[in-house]
Amino acid sequence: MFSKRSPTSSFSEISKEMRRYPGYIFDLDGTLYRGSDPIEYAVEVVNQLAAEGARIRYLTNNSGYTAEKISEKLTAMGFPAPVDSIYSSGLGAAEYLRTHKAKSVFVVGQPGLHEILSSYGIRTTQESRADFVLVGICRSFTYDLLDRALQCLLGGAKLIATNKDTTFPLEEGRLAPGAGSIVAAVEAASGMKATVIGKPEPTLIQHLLAQMNLKPEDVLVVGDRVDTDIESAKRAQCPAHLVLTGVTSVASTAGLSWSKDLRDLLQS
Ligand SMILES: [Mg+2]
Repeated sequence: MFSKRSPTSSFSEISKEMRRYPGYIFDLDGTLYRGSDPIEYAVEVVNQLAAEGARIRYLTNNSGYTAEKISEKLTAMGFPAPVDSIYSSGLGAAEYLRTHKAKSVFVVGQPGLHEILSSYGIRTTQESRADFVLVGICRSFTYDLLDRALQCLLGGAKLIATNKDTTFPLEEGRLAPGAGSIVAAVEAASGMKATVIGKPEPTLIQHLLAQMNLKPEDVLVVGDRVDTDIESAKRAQCPAHLVLTGVTSVASTAGLSWSKDLRDLLQS
């Protein structure tokens, strides 16, 4: 399935020492796909690792889609991706709000985030009173939405962000504004600092480690962003590998394991 090509060995020494891990956590945008295009070699590499018996999980900071929708998209591209192999900042936020016994949540987010919350039995409101304001990627973001979020916060609501990625990569390297751009607006208006659920916080990775029943050192976290993917792996004490197929074009951080694309994961 995987066609052998010349090794991408001009990359870091660390990536030459790449070994097989019992488990892998893959980021999505910029790591496995850009928009609706799978990234070169990604489908082959992930299938090969799965065929060798590795446990595969997918973790995205994108809160706009349910696990079912993401599973459909990945499966259509050819990835082995059952619904329970997928976790996101949206699911993590729902878990957080349930744990904190949220009574009503004002959401600045995509319909998918509303769906996730409702599947967790969490009540959302359009009113200017809530005990939490949850901000994620929101393609229908307006001044009015910002205003209502602000009124909730001035009324005592706590501010939660799914993630703070300022951009994410689409087809042909085009960058689109991410949730972090919207969180910044809400933070600026309110003077508050959001509690972040997604990467770089380690919570989502820790959830997957528990689900996989693997130790942090046995799971390689693979992503395209140093400040989220690699940082959250570090905080969760997992090894990490950076690929340059997304937002990071040059690996400048010394000591980082990195490669141009995912083929290096099969070197050992
Ligand atoms: Mg990414």
